[in-house]
Amino acid sequence: MSLKAYKQKRNLKKSKEPAAIVRKKRAGVLRFVVQKHAATRLHYDFRLEMDGVLKSWAIPKGPSMNPKEKRLAVHVEDHPYEYKDFEGIIPEGYGAGAVIIWDEGTYTLDEQKKKSFHVTLKGKKLKGGFALVNFREDQWLLIKSNDRYATTEDVTKKDRSVVSKRRLETLVKEFKKKSD
Ligand code: MN
Repeated sequence: MSLKAYKQKRNLKKSKEPAAIVRKKRAGVLRFVVQKHAATRLHYDFRLEMDGVLKSWAIPKGPSMNPKEKRLAVHVEDHPYEYKDFEGIIPEGYGAGAVIIWDEGTYTLDEQKKKSFHVTLKGKKLKGGFALVNFREDQWLLIKSNDRYATTEDVTKKDRSVVSKRRLETLVKEFKKKSD
């Protein structure tokens, strides 16, 4: 696992994002996080702990709990494990903008193939089975399994941080004040 791309894209001293450290393997539960990120374009960053780093996908529309709504998830560079605790403002530079921890929890990896895997999430908002399917280069689909957690309700309407209870818009205002 390498965090080379993560490091290359950023000025970590300036951005105050977590250091590019690959975690030693440890026993125990695997974590996931979904960060809502007001960058040039709003998106949700879906990250799964794997081999000491966070495998990451950017989801423009955010996740859905409806099995009929397949969400595009663009695979991006691995992030350090500590990134799961990052909430705040990334100053000018790569990924500039506000970030909240939209959801977090543990997960199990139920099935892993080269071009797809299946996970069960135990988050505060996202629950139950999800498939990630690679259909073209770095493009994947995130698809909710048809289980007891499936619903047509829009989960992105739950818009507060599960950590600070703040809305992304509140941080965006702070970001704008700072950059004025
Ligand atoms: Mn992002």
